[in-house]
Amino acid sequence: MLGLMQNHPLLISALIDFAERYHRDGEIVSRRVEGDMHRYTWADAARRSRQLAHALDAIEVRPGERVGTLAWNGYRHLELYYGVSGSGRVIHTINPRLLPEQIAWIINHAEDQALCFDMTFLPIVQGIHKHCPAVRHWIALCDGDRLPQDSGIANLISYESWIAGRPTAYAWPRLDENTASGMCYTSGTTGNPKAALYSHRSTVLHAYAIALPDSMGLSARDAALPVVPMFHVNAWGMPYAAAMVGCKLVFPGPALDGKSVYELIEAEGVTVATGVPTVWQMLLTHMAANKLRFGALQRTVIGGAAAPPAMIDTFRNDYGIEVLHAWGMTETSPIGSVCTLQNKHLSLPADEQLKLRMKQGRAVFGIDMKIVDPNGNEIAWGTGVSGDLYVRGPWILASYYKGEGGDPLRGGWFPTGDVATIDADGFMQITDRTKDVIKSGGEWISSIDIENIAMAHPAIAMAACIGMPHPKWDERPIVAVVVKPGQEVTREQLLAFYEGKVAKWQTPDDVVFMDAIPLGATGKMLKTKLREQLKDYKLPA
Ligand code: AMP
Repeated sequence: MLGLMQNHPLLISALIDFAERYHRDGEIVSRRVEGDMHRYTWADAARRSRQLAHALDAIEVRPGERVGTLAWNGYRHLELYYGVSGSGRVIHTINPRLLPEQIAWIINHAEDQALCFDMTFLPIVQGIHKHCPAVRHWIALCDGDRLPQDSGIANLISYESWIAGRPTAYAWPRLDENTASGMCYTSGTTGNPKAALYSHRSTVLHAYAIALPDSMGLSARDAALPVVPMFHVNAWGMPYAAAMVGCKLVFPGPALDGKSVYELIEAEGVTVATGVPTVWQMLLTHMAANKLRFGALQRTVIGGAAAPPAMIDTFRNDYGIEVLHAWGMTETSPIGSVCTLQNKHLSLPADEQLKLRMKQGRAVFGIDMKIVDPNGNEIAWGTGVSGDLYVRGPWILASYYKGEGGDPLRGGWFPTGDVATIDADGFMQITDRTKDVIKSGGEWISSIDIENIAMAHPAIAMAACIGMPHPKWDERPIVAVVVKPGQEVTREQLLAFYEGKVAKWQTPDDVVFMDAIPLGATGKMLKTKLREQLKDYKLPA
């Protein structure tokens, strides 16, 4: 027997409608690319999102077609989140830190019909527009009078003139809740990037989950600052959850340095902020150097890479700020787990509590997690044994866009490429990863790409790229190489060889010359052994 309740679809348009109705004067504050501060309300954001939906109708972007963005966190990007998805198109947020060729490849693979970009990224667009034939409209996120006359880009329009004068009412379509709403590419370990394609249903359910008290604990009394970019898994879902609870939203624009983030937190009474450890490291360094204190800030959500224990300690003990250590991936929308303690832990000594807080935490409701041994058998919780972390749930990827890479699931579970333990209470802790990648400042570097480039150098016989711990960037790549007999190459020559082949920040920090790279029985490079051999190695200052 079926239940007799309404089968009402979970839609992104309902979030902005709700924010407008119940939190119409709730503030949205943005530091703009133009350098000034912009303030308006949820009602303004809702109205302009509807005008944007009309503007998309006018240029005939059809339902399901992709609209790309190259943009910082700001109010126009928020309007794109709602206007594009709400009207049945798919917002495709692109990481501007990639190489222009990679960005063009991604735009072409997604078949973006329009591309909206902050003026910071004009040089990228000028470089790639001729290589992206499917893009019919290039839209600069600026006022009409700021549009460059001589950009060389055909069909360049300004966002403000594009939406200006459009009707402020729009009938959001009643879509199937499984309709695609957003898209985000993640750089794979091998080959080209692959895209996660989110749905209205997965996005709204994820917003509920991250707002829960033992997740980010969001409420209408909060002022939320997503420092994590809106091109990184939808700023971890904050722009959706903020509308759901009606909290104030504060956007940092391009200014992510410690001083700018601190000033924004203080000026806007931010209570909760989200970001990768690198961002918090810059903030804490600035605060310590200037003997600063927080006013309203209550909690920070740290994810994307492991939160260092010293950082958790400093936030809590020196500043009285609750740290919420979270784990997730592009493929998991992203939040899978958040670390909050249970009642029984509150009486534990401080060092025991810190050990728990260093873990990535318990799965949020909706997510199932398990760890498996090399044969795929589940490892029981609480054994201390680590295994491959598998997840499943309504906001976990089922397949990559266009089926790239084949079926990623194993028996209905998504293998994360992370290695973890799960304790008896279900607290998961990442201990390693099986994917051959390095995460620097929250951004991926493919070890295999770095190795392939070195191997393309005529003097190199073998190359292995590994990550080394770094106090600011979490990890930095180095490349260990074996030079061909009779050949010569210097460190500087090899590093120069990377120019133009990867983004500057992806270039290895150092080259280590070796007689041999340790190999396994099948000829595969043994990176664990290499790491052991280089355990006393120090990155150049
Ligand atoms: P991305 O798809 O770029 O969001 O990266 C996801 C990956 O980042 C995960 O699979 C982990 O390897 C890593 N990651 C994310 N959060 C954490 C965390 N709290 N601790 C350790 N690694 C993390």
